[in-house]
Amino acid sequence: DVIELSYHTRNTPDISSKTTPNEWQPNLNSVKRLQFPNLDTEIRACVRYSLERVRVNETEHVGIIIDHEKEHDFLFWKEFNRQTSHRNNDLSPTKAQYFNTFSSAQSLADVKSIELALSFLELNQTRIETQKFCHLLQCHQFALGDKELSARISLELLLRNNFSSTTRLGHLQSVMQREGKPYYCPHLSTLLTKFSELSRRPREFLSLSAWAELFTRQLELIGWPRFESEDYLQWQKSLYQLSSTSAIVGELDITGALRQLRSLLYQTPRRIVFNDELQISLVSLDEALDFDFDSLWFISADDQRLPCSISPDTFLPLSIQQEYGMPRSSYKLQLEQANLILTRLQRNTHEFILSHHKYEGDLEIRPSPLSRTIPLSPVPDIGSTNNLTNPLNPVEFEYVQEPLCLPLTSVIGTGGTSLLSNQSNCPFKAFATHRLGAQKLPNLQPGLDAMNRGSALHLALEKLSTKFNHQEKILESSAVIRQKFIDESIEPAIEQMHKQHPDVMTPTFSNLERIRLSNLLNSFLEFELSRSPFLVHETEQQITWDHSLLSLNFRVDRIDKLNDGSLVLIDYKSGKKSSYRWFDDRPDDLQLPLYQLAIGSNIGHISGAFIYQVNIEEVTLAGATDKEDLHPDIKPLAQVRLFDGTWTDLQERWNIIVLAIAAEFEKGLLAVAPTRGNQTCQYCDLSSLCRINDQKNLLDKQDELTP
Ligand code: SF4
Repeated sequence: DVIELSYHTRNTPDISSKTTPNEWQPNLNSVKRLQFPNLDTEIRACVRYSLERVRVNETEHVGIIIDHEKEHDFLFWKEFNRQTSHRNNDLSPTKAQYFNTFSSAQSLADVKSIELALSFLELNQTRIETQKFCHLLQCHQFALGDKELSARISLELLLRNNFSSTTRLGHLQSVMQREGKPYYCPHLSTLLTKFSELSRRPREFLSLSAWAELFTRQLELIGWPRFESEDYLQWQKSLYQLSSTSAIVGELDITGALRQLRSLLYQTPRRIVFNDELQISLVSLDEALDFDFDSLWFISADDQRLPCSISPDTFLPLSIQQEYGMPRSSYKLQLEQANLILTRLQRNTHEFILSHHKYEGDLEIRPSPLSRTIPLSPVPDIGSTNNLTNPLNPVEFEYVQEPLCLPLTSVIGTGGTSLLSNQSNCPFKAFATHRLGAQKLPNLQPGLDAMNRGSALHLALEKLSTKFNHQEKILESSAVIRQKFIDESIEPAIEQMHKQHPDVMTPTFSNLERIRLSNLLNSFLEFELSRSPFLVHETEQQITWDHSLLSLNFRVDRIDKLNDGSLVLIDYKSGKKSSYRWFDDRPDDLQLPLYQLAIGSNIGHISGAFIYQVNIEEVTLAGATDKEDLHPDIKPLAQVRLFDGTWTDLQERWNIIVLAIAAEFEKGLLAVAPTRGNQTCQYCDLSSLCRINDQKNLLDKQDELTP
């Protein structure tokens, strides 16, 4: 019966295309222009200036004109955090609020705490996204706070390593109830049980008001929100609105109800609240007109933003837009508007700074044509990124000389061959991975990942090599027998994948995997036939290499015996062929060098070592030997340009390298020193830990700042 109309008026300068251009005349007593090398230094200087202004004058209101679309708000938030020496990663509005900001483009659904509430409510669905559940495990903004945090982290690792992208809440609860396991979370499990009990209902379809009531009770149970805020009041209002549509929408299941709620939240703009206790405000150029500032800094005042570039509506004729003076329809209009706004801002402000930066990446940025007449002022001292002395929050810096080495003091028995390969690639990578246990959080992805597929192929190859353990057997077998052996070898692999991913391995998907493996195994047998005669001597041989404080366990996929009685070591790889750099001083891969050293001559004379590459693009052998007739694709070492010597020479060299790299690991060398620079780092997930990019950026910045 009642329609509530809310409106907002603003005294925007009267602008139309008929207005005579009224050029802004900068008052050089109060207006300054600054130029910085890049956006970072520009923001750093602006934050330093703002903090100083509010420190000196407790009633000063400082305005910073930013571009919301370029996420300047977040960059400023980070810089304020840094300069006030807060190490606070909590982005909630009540924490570490330095400034007012008015990003009107944000909807209620985009607010972090509202997203969190929605993620909790999604636990009502039959299948839930494992990734989202992992985010909830990290969160401390609910009833459990930091309780069981370390068990929750272990649970997340378990889920990421072993679970599919979707799962059931009941299944997750049964996992977290396993007493004695590092991921045992009894409190979380009890909370989730109560949460599910609340949603136990007689019918699947309910009215939206019943859903809204249930959602409220569930969120209360889990302790959301932890504090009341304007966002929470808006959330309550949205739930009320949702309930009011019950009669129109009818009854819905949980998926429908959540869809309605989400869509309502997306359509609700986040309410903007001005906190007049904060002395700094981040505003857009238009928003700046609504406030009075004592001092004002216009960031990125370049020719793209001042005047703002044109962007006419695509659905209306341009001439009509220009005739009626529609915003952003002509450059002339934009220029007039910019002139008017600047004139007005200058009138009300004691100090007005326009700044811009010279480069964005490799792109050179031009200053605004409206500010070119203002002479450039000298750039204020902004201090260095590292040595920050902030008068508001003085911090005493302690300089720590990092040790170059942290020697190993006890036996290390995990890591296998990758321990030495990592050490060879980058000492820090080996230290972080094998001594600190650092690893990237595995990504949960739908379906099977490359590792699942690779280990299934390994298993099928092992079974097939046991059945065809002699090249003659392949030669003598009919096509039917070959296919029979292939099919039999595939089944254990399918079973393994089914155990790991029961939800993914449906009958149809299993058949697709069978076809994929069958194609690979057929190509593999064809390649086997093109080799010189061999018999399979061993498969999956377990080896332990004990050396000083290292006790490395690994498995050699296959050892073949050749016609002359010598042995060749083989490792299967299902990925794409890569360069192993076996002849370098620090090879990328030390698997084969370590195999031949660890096996030694105990089992017979070894005449070569190979990687058997089996993938859909090719099946091939790559490695080292003196033999000339092993396969037409394999060059004997005498013909290899990169190495001058025989197989025995290479073995000696490999042994020296393996022992030297093992000694380096034991010594605990920590150097962040990727052997092949960017190329090595490209395949490493630890850049956020070793901070090599920060190091590079710092050097780049120092270069930029050096006149
Ligand atoms: S990212 Fe590069 S420097 Fe850092 S640990 Fe990995 S390989 Fe070493």
